[in-house]
Amino acid sequence: MRIFDKEQKLIKIICNQCGTSEDVDGGLMKKEFVSVEKEWGYFSDKDTQIHRFDLCEACYDRLVAGFCYPVELERRLEL
Ligand SMILES: [Zn+2]
Repeated sequence: MRIFDKEQKLIKIICNQCGTSEDVDGGLMKKEFVSVEKEWGYFSDKDTQIHRFDLCEACYDRLVAGFCYPVELERRLEL
């Protein structure tokens, strides 16, 4: 969940699963979150709905641990 100030500037991200939060200070965060946005369509039961949520890394790890198939992993080489 994302919290914005009056100027629509992102100021905080809260994990929808566990509630842990991180203040966004000048665009910098010390924790990372997974952000999901899904616009549901005609063939779903949620047609016209847009769902958004954020998960902290620990909740992401718990979610993907339950997958039948592991996430696809690629390592990015950084300079
Ligand atoms: Zn969490």
